[in-house]
Amino acid sequence: MDLPSSITEEIAELKTALPKVKIQTATNSFLIGSYQRTPYTCIKFTITFPSEYPSHSFIVDIKQDEVVPPGLKKKLESDLVADLPLGHYQQLVTTVTRLVQFIDNNRFLPCWKELKQVMNLLKKDDSGSTISIIESKGKIKLKLCRKKYFYNCSITVDEGYPSTTTHEDWGKACLLNLISTNLPPKLEKMLTSQALEVIRRMQDGMTAEKALVLSNPIRQPKMDDDDSKKDIGEKLTKDKLKSLKHDIDTLSTVRDLREKDASRVQGKDHVLKAHAKERKAARRAIHRITDQELKYDQEMEAKWREEEEARMSGYNFGSGNAPQPSLLSLVIFLQEKIQNVPDSKCPCCDKLALPADPNKLKFMYLPVSECKNDKEKKDRKVARTMRPIRVYCGCWYHYKCLDKFILEPPFGAECPTPGCGRRVFHPDWPDDMKRLEREWASHQARLREVEDAALFL
Ligand SMILES: [Zn+2]
Ligand SMILES: [Zn+2]
Repeated sequence: MDLPSSITEEIAELKTALPKVKIQTATNSFLIGSYQRTPYTCIKFTITFPSEYPSHSFIVDIKQDEVVPPGLKKKLESDLVADLPLGHYQQLVTTVTRLVQFIDNNRFLPCWKELKQVMNLLKKDDSGSTISIIESKGKIKLKLCRKKYFYNCSITVDEGYPSTTTHEDWGKACLLNLISTNLPPKLEKMLTSQALEVIRRMQDGMTAEKALVLSNPIRQPKMDDDDSKKDIGEKLTKDKLKSLKHDIDTLSTVRDLREKDASRVQGKDHVLKAHAKERKAARRAIHRITDQELKYDQEMEAKWREEEEARMSGYNFGSGNAPQPSLLSLVIFLQEKIQNVPDSKCPCCDKLALPADPNKLKFMYLPVSECKNDKEKKDRKVARTMRPIRVYCGCWYHYKCLDKFILEPPFGAECPTPGCGRRVFHPDWPDDMKRLEREWASHQARLREVEDAALFL
């Protein structure tokens, strides 16, 4: 093809060379066009040809919108017209090619504002955390540290961000990849999969707040699904609990006195053994029902998967709300819900929920099969009573503290963490307060029987 010898010919050449660039208007004095990489990454530009063109270069104006950071706009505009072959009608394709390359190679364009906020968040962090950015790959490497714990990961922004470009990548608008961590695998998996769930739901059009609530792997009990029901339920039980607590306080005073008597009569051992046996039986009963609840959860999950698959087979993204940008929310999640965990205090005993030494935490999660000997097995068992458990409200409790908190009155108490105050739920413990009350009362009654019997021994 002959080299162009007029603006009209240059424009014709541009149309052939870069068919993806949309030309809205083109005259001998200006050209308005746009280039769209994805629906979320589109740049509009105007090129004005001076009367001295081509011995004077044209002027490029990038339309100021969300996609190009204001600080970059001026620089980009001058870079686009740098070192052009003045005097020749060969400048247009070169400039527009540069613009296209800029858009194609800057994967953070659709989220530069979020990225800036992410950088600010990390700047404020003084725990030795680091962030590095590979712009052409749309990749962020993040090392989050707190005390002796770390969570090392990468986040890759999808080309289609805040959505994804392919069906297979759905839900990975920000692809989170764990590199390394010293959190035990069980905790890490729970936290990472919740983070992924937040992204997936935000791509589905949910706000960050809603996505966070719905991504919680610990569900609120079914009976409390409805808010109005919850209020009535709480009111009823609060009054009832007051009287129950009174009964129990009286009972335990009586029990304490009898316990003293009994141990004086025939040594405490017998009573204590009986006590432990009763408690074990009660716990077994609880766990039998937990198994049923577990089955229910599994059924619910299977149902959810089915629905999910049906939806995915239709691959209909347009039906819901627009995908929400999830990068900043993801990093906030990683900071608040993962990095900050070593700072959490158990609301019951006010001590750190995680041991200061990550190896101690790992030991709590060591598979029994990997224990070297019986002593280690025993040590592990003891250590596990202090393993951290995250409950529905997001606060971390020691296993032992939580067990007592849920199974002993006052039942259905609110989380004592300042500013939390939500009810304390965990799927491993019963959530039905009537049942908790019943079990506690019958446990106390059995305990009294045992003590009464002991008095006559
Ligand atoms: Zn505790
Ligand atoms: Zn809480």
